Amino acid sequence: MTGETTQKRPPVVVVLGHVDHGKTTLLDYIRKSNVAEKESGGITQHIGAYQIEHNGKMLTFLDTPGHEAFSEMRRRGAHVADIAILVVAADEGIKPQTLEAARHIENAKLPFVVALNRIDKPNADSPRIKKQLSENNILIEEWGGKVPALEVSAKTGKGIPELLDMLLLLWDLEEIPAETGLSTQGVVIESRLDPRRGPSATILVTSGVLKKNDALICGEAIGKIRILEDFKGVEIAQATASTPVLVTGMETVPVLGDTCEVVANAEEAIRRSEALVEKRKEEQKAADALLQAASAGVVAASKHILPIILKTDTKGSEEAIIEALLRMTHDEVALKIIEHSVGDITEADVKSAESTRAAIMGFRVTLPRAVEQYARVRGVRVVILELIYEFIEGVRKELSLLLPAEIVKTQMGKVSLLAIFKREKDGIIIGGRITSGKVVRGAWCDIVRNGAIVSEGKIRELKIAKDDASEAKEGQECGMLYVGKGEVPQVGDAVEVYERFEKRREL
Ligand code: GDP
Repeated sequence: MTGETTQKRPPVVVVLGHVDHGKTTLLDYIRKSNVAEKESGGITQHIGAYQIEHNGKMLTFLDTPGHEAFSEMRRRGAHVADIAILVVAADEGIKPQTLEAARHIENAKLPFVVALNRIDKPNADSPRIKKQLSENNILIEEWGGKVPALEVSAKTGKGIPELLDMLLLLWDLEEIPAETGLSTQGVVIESRLDPRRGPSATILVTSGVLKKNDALICGEAIGKIRILEDFKGVEIAQATASTPVLVTGMETVPVLGDTCEVVANAEEAIRRSEALVEKRKEEQKAADALLQAASAGVVAASKHILPIILKTDTKGSEEAIIEALLRMTHDEVALKIIEHSVGDITEADVKSAESTRAAIMGFRVTLPRAVEQYARVRGVRVVILELIYEFIEGVRKELSLLLPAEIVKTQMGKVSLLAIFKREKDGIIIGGRITSGKVVRGAWCDIVRNGAIVSEGKIRELKIAKDDASEAKEGQECGMLYVGKGEVPQVGDAVEVYERFEKRREL
């Protein structure tokens, strides 16, 4: 319990945007220009969040690697960030990941600002990018919307104080429930097994006051806080809401995105942890049953099947991907998820792909060199992708390859049939006058009677008078050896000659 809290806790800011648009540089600049070098010193290990003071107010920045971690945390229902910065390079503009990030922000209902970065570059063109933003439904103030857009340079620092002002202003406008009476809680934003210190986790305190020696439960992990450090690596006795801290003393490594809570004592922690394990088992059973039912249904309705073995980095990605894949339905092709599991690709996966003729689709997993060779020798296709939208597109592409190609016909000429000469072994010799266009030896044609195609085939040989010809034109009479399937041509039919090519279809 905290007692009275008069001041609003600091906002937790997350930085999102397309790769290479400057997220890391921006976070580095803000940290370096606001945290004295000697404090943040090179000795301590840098953790995935930091705090700064700007105009007498604190702000917390999440410094985790991009929106993957953010969406994983959000998926688990942990409300971590309060405000987002959507970084867009002013010399490049909107990219697919910019829009993916914008969707994350929208889904999380976060207030946000757009930082038009790299404004120092000679080819930066923020008016163009602003227009692009509005065209993509990111409604910035200048284009009649509510989202502030600021020009910044993460390299020179231009515009960054204004950006920080804007973040604080947005936070002032946010109404958050009073903290009084809330238990002490947090969210795991990083965790690892430290060779010296054992399981260690970076926890963002979300309410209350976290203290050294507290009995803590983080998801299924339990323990007693042995060391509590701030982001600079300095030992502290306690931490209030929005403070990122490094915690040691847990018995196992807590899972990213899990929520933590201080409990009365170790017995309480054990009881809660066991209850959670049971609950998660039940949820998993239900999810698996749903998946099986869903993929069986999709497959039953279709003809061409693409079997895949799905490997993902986390259970969260797996669920998100399967959900998206199950929405991908088509009359002629379907996906069949033969197996799905979390972890890197193994020889066992390759064996199972070989026997089911499946492709292995991996999401943010690795393919060890030996397994890669093993797959190559067996002719098993392995595709590994790193972004959800790319992954879904990748599967779509694979599925499209199964679609029979579309035959596109472009009309070349028309012949009115005047005579049927004789049947040959593999065709029939017919004669007629070309009423439009031309006829080319070897061309495809349809025999049309009363507006309907009665036979389809090719013109194997072409003669004008008695001479072989490669082409005959409108107005000329010609003889043709027609080879085709369907009914026998009759006088009065039309021969419609066309060029055909195959067009790949896409899902
Ligand atoms: P991230 O992938 O979004 O984290 O992007 P980075 O922060 O790694 O930046 C990608 C590249 O852009 C790096 O080479 C940075 O030095 C460069 N960069 C980032 N911000 C700026 C900026 O404001 N101006 C200029 N000129 N370069 C920048």
